[in-house]
Amino acid sequence: MYLTDYHTHTKLSPDGSVPLADMADAAVAAGLNELCVTDHCDLLELYGEPVDHYDWPPALEQYAAVAPRYAGKLTIRLGLEFGMAHLNPEVSRAILDRPELDFVLGSIHNLCPEKGGTDFYYVDYPDPAACYAALDDYFSSMAKLAVTDFYDVLSHIIYPLRYMDHPISLDRYHDVLDGIFRAAAERGRGIEINTWRGRTLKEWLPVLKQFKACGGEIVTIGSDAHTTDGVGKGCEQACQLLAEAGFRYLATYEKRKPVFHTL
Ligand SMILES: [Zn+2]
Ligand SMILES: [Zn+2]
Repeated sequence: MYLTDYHTHTKLSPDGSVPLADMADAAVAAGLNELCVTDHCDLLELYGEPVDHYDWPPALEQYAAVAPRYAGKLTIRLGLEFGMAHLNPEVSRAILDRPELDFVLGSIHNLCPEKGGTDFYYVDYPDPAACYAALDDYFSSMAKLAVTDFYDVLSHIIYPLRYMDHPISLDRYHDVLDGIFRAAAERGRGIEINTWRGRTLKEWLPVLKQFKACGGEIVTIGSDAHTTDGVGKGCEQACQLLAEAGFRYLATYEKRKPVFHTL
């Protein structure tokens, strides 16, 4: 089985502190064949302040210094976890105009600017109504992102559920998710199984089945590790889920083009 972790963060993410070389060592120790570094770039800060650039030089330097050292034992790709890209097409196009870039995760981390732009991590969820209000906003933003070209794979589609301590059903979002999945599939884009460092696995099965029913074929797997102990967590089990959902291939990326590996 080809084992990959396509969602990892290093010290170059605001919420990370680990150098890429340490993450790569952890990937080798975890038996991974391929690691993609996807540090954060969000067009909204944690409390909604707009952002209009990404500091590429440290990311390119870190990657160029580390990736060649692992040749033959671990393939390392340069990715970006790009948040709220639909808010500013001109800025998004400029940020992604990098020939070195292998892979772009498209994320929605924040409420829309009209609702204050706060990261879902910092939103209060006192009751189910507050959860659904946040999710209404979340999926409406994702529907806007899905019809752009500013991503290869939509990240952690069930992201806000991490922070909600109430029983939440996604049933009411079935139609909006159909639209999101069809838009992604039509554009040759995919989704990811985000294991959240091994904590979310079985939750992905209905999502994967729905994506497949909408014509989806491209799925990557990532742990969302911010430290070495999370690297590769749940990635092997995620391959099994992918097969269970009827997929035959796991995707990786090189220079923004998908590469398929038989499960
Ligand atoms: Zn994220
Ligand atoms: Zn992440």
